[in-house]
Amino acid sequence: MARVLIEDVDIVTLDPEATVLHASCLAVEGAKIVGVGQAPPGFLPDERLDAHNHLAMPALFNAHCHAAMTYERGWAEDLPFPRWLNEKIWVAESALREEDVSWGAALAACEMIRGGVAGFNDHYFYMDRVAEVVEQSGMKAALAWCVFGIGDDKEIGANLEGTLRFIERWSGSAEGRLRLFLGPHSPYICPPGFLQRIAELAHERNLGIHLHLSESKEQVENSLRANGMSPVAHLDHLGVLQAPGGCIAAHCLFVSDEDLDLLAQRKASVAHTPITYMKLAMGVPDLSRFARHELTVAIGTDGPASNADMDMFAALRQTAILQKHVQRDPTAMPGDTVLRMATQAGARAMGFPGSGVLAVGAPADIALLDMDRPHLLPRHDLVANLVHSAKAADVTDLMVDGRWLMRKRELLTLDEQKIKAMAERGAQQLVSQEMRSVRKYEE
Ligand SMILES: [Zn+2]
Repeated sequence: MARVLIEDVDIVTLDPEATVLHASCLAVEGAKIVGVGQAPPGFLPDERLDAHNHLAMPALFNAHCHAAMTYERGWAEDLPFPRWLNEKIWVAESALREEDVSWGAALAACEMIRGGVAGFNDHYFYMDRVAEVVEQSGMKAALAWCVFGIGDDKEIGANLEGTLRFIERWSGSAEGRLRLFLGPHSPYICPPGFLQRIAELAHERNLGIHLHLSESKEQVENSLRANGMSPVAHLDHLGVLQAPGGCIAAHCLFVSDEDLDLLAQRKASVAHTPITYMKLAMGVPDLSRFARHELTVAIGTDGPASNADMDMFAALRQTAILQKHVQRDPTAMPGDTVLRMATQAGARAMGFPGSGVLAVGAPADIALLDMDRPHLLPRHDLVANLVHSAKAADVTDLMVDGRWLMRKRELLTLDEQKIKAMAERGAQQLVSQEMRSVRKYEE
């Protein structure tokens, strides 16, 4: 097993005591961390890394995204949410091909590795192609194949049986770096009978469920009218929140205290994606209410059609600043709290409970940042530097399960030049197909 010693490094551990170390060291053996602050006795490294002027932190976990939507980055700007979805996103996705998902997700993986992200929680189509990207890139991921339960969804990849075959094909693969979830789109699109079937399957096969929930007032009003209860209560009634592998509910912008109680009781996790909320003017929830219910809240970038990047440093900084603003309280959402949401909370929700902390025995998921940058000096408070000043581009190195995915800003597992070229070409083609189908529609 390879042994790596990272020396002369500042460390934000995110351990229970919130330990921060200066000019210290980290020892890694195989896939695990074996020393923080000092190497174990007799530790003989195969590789020594002088990390002077660098900071080590637990690598980030992106708790909700649609990675292949990198293809639609900058393609649906300055539109109201219904027009953004119906006139742009659905139309482009109706022309989506499997290879688009391959290159789109690979582009996202390059971007996330460059930004210090070890794992991502993806919800999209043609997920075999995303699983291949996970396998090749060395990243961790929880993957859910999006299903609607209405109409003929064969066009965009999977019916429910196809999803189950996808889960069977990939379970236990990629050296244990993959988690597989069922991915009904949402209670506002999926019919109740279909959601109930999904809940039954989750119980039969011991799976988790990842879906969108309570994104607008209209969704709540429609649910009250159609089902006599809120979207959260509706999912609970159908057994969705009780999925044995956990339920990850993206967004939850409009939830009552009773809803929060239910989500907490069922140990569901909420994925919070603040940049989408601001960009699409959806509203921002007061997360102090979620904290009062001791609900797990993790942070995601969402898809690059609504953000429009996958920079988790931006997402976590916006989470902190927005909560101070929304709660009218500058003490709200301290730096340590938001860093834990962007690392260990996401990892736990996705099924990687040991990740998100630099501690002996934890998986060696480590991001190194170059701190010798004007915007990161002086270093009064390393947590404040990370939350309020650091950017994805400050990350120089990323290790996942003890394997370097990036060293000195060079990607080691993915062919970035080829991926950029193929994604640019594929995205232009997708858009021109979309234009053709719109023209055909208008004729
Ligand atoms: Zn989403």
